[in-house]
Amino acid sequence: MFETLKTQPADKILALMQMYREDPRDTKVDLGVGVYKDATGLTPVMRAVKAAEQKIWETQDTKVYTGLIGDPAYSDAMIELVLDGVVARNTIAAAATPGGTGAVRQAFEMIRMANANARVFVSNPTWPNHLSILSYIGIEAVPYRYFDNETRGVDFDGMPADLKTAKKGDVVLLHGCCHNPTGANLNAAEWDAVIEVLLETGATPMIDIAYQGFGDGLAEDAAATRKLVAAVPECLIAASCSKNFGIYRERTGLLMAIAADPAAQALNQGTLAYLNRQNYSFPPDHGARIVTTILTDDALRSDWMAELEEVRLGMLDLRKQLATELQRLSGSDRFGFLAQHRGMFSLLGTSPEKVELLRKEHGIYMVGDSRMNIAGLNADTVPVLAKAIIDAGV
Ligand code: PMP
Repeated sequence: MFETLKTQPADKILALMQMYREDPRDTKVDLGVGVYKDATGLTPVMRAVKAAEQKIWETQDTKVYTGLIGDPAYSDAMIELVLDGVVARNTIAAAATPGGTGAVRQAFEMIRMANANARVFVSNPTWPNHLSILSYIGIEAVPYRYFDNETRGVDFDGMPADLKTAKKGDVVLLHGCCHNPTGANLNAAEWDAVIEVLLETGATPMIDIAYQGFGDGLAEDAAATRKLVAAVPECLIAASCSKNFGIYRERTGLLMAIAADPAAQALNQGTLAYLNRQNYSFPPDHGARIVTTILTDDALRSDWMAELEEVRLGMLDLRKQLATELQRLSGSDRFGFLAQHRGMFSLLGTSPEKVELLRKEHGIYMVGDSRMNIAGLNADTVPVLAKAIIDAGV
C-alpha cells in the first residue's frame, strides 16, 4: 500500500546542514540551522541545566506518567516566566507539549476544532514550519505584509492594513519577540497599533514565543505578549524552552490558551488535555522538570538568567561587530539594520542567487531566503562574512 505515497519535500535547512558537513573547506562558516552556538562553535549544556539534572537524578524516585497536560508545576512556572501575572491564573489553560513546535501544532488543532473555517494570518515571511503545519492540517494561511526589503525593518504601512482584513473567527499569528526569520521586530507603539486592530476586527491573536531572553532581555522580550494578553479577551501562546534553556532535544514547550473568564478556561483546559491524549498522550517530562527545577530555585534561576544574559549580549555584540565592519567596507550605513535586529536571526534581504554565490565562492552557509544565524559567527568569522557580503555585491 505504501507505494501510493508521494515523496515529500526535504527540509531545506536540514539539507543545508548536510551540505555544510560535506564541504571540505576549513574556512566554511555555518549560519544555517537555528541553534545557539558559542564562540567555539559549540552548543553547550547550560550550567543551571546540568545542576537541575543532577538534582532530579538524586531525588526522582519514579518515572510513572505525569498528567495529560504535564506537571502543573511546570505550567505555573512557565506562565509566570512568560506572563508574570498580567492576567488571572484561573483564566489560563495550559498544557505541556513536545517543544514549541508541539505547542504550535496543538494550537492549530484547537483553532480548527473551534472553527473549521478559521484562517490563520501569518507574517510574510514567517518560520516555514508555520506554513507547512497549517497546510498539512488543512488550515488556510493568509500572509500579511511584514518585512520591508528596502529598510530591512518592519513594513508598518502594510502590516496593519493587511491585518484589518481578518475577521472574528480568524487567528493572527504573531512572533512574541526575535522574529524568525527576519530579526525585525515591532516597537512598542506598533504593538499598540496591532492590539487596536485585533480589538477592532475581533480576530484572535496567537503568539509564538520561542526566543524569550535572546533579544532585549527576559522581561523585555515578553513585554509585548504581556500587554497584548492583558488587552484582548482571548489568546493562544505557544512557548518554547528549546533556545533559552538550551534543551533542544528534550522537546519542551507549553501551549497556553487564555480565556475571557474562568468558565471558558475549563473548556479550554479540557480541550488541551483531549488534544494531548489524541496526539501523543502524555507529553515529555524531563525537559519540563529541568525548567521547573530551575525556575523554582532561587540560586539556579539566577545562574540561568546570568548565563542567558551572556548568550544574549554575545549575539548583540556580534551584530554590532558585523554592522561596523560592513560600514567600514561599504562606506555606508546600509547594513545598520543588522545591529537593529534582535534575536538569533537576521534576514540579509538578498536574492537566492547571491545566497548560492556566498556558499559556492565563500563557503558561507545561510538559508536560501538569506536568513543568517548570527550565533554562527565569532570575532574571526565576522570580517570573513563582511568581506564576502561586499565581494558578492549584496
Ligand atoms: N517557533 C519558532 C518561530 C521557532 O523559530 C522555533 C524553533 N525553530 C519554534 C517555534 C519551535 O522550536 P522547538 O520545537 O524546537 O521548541
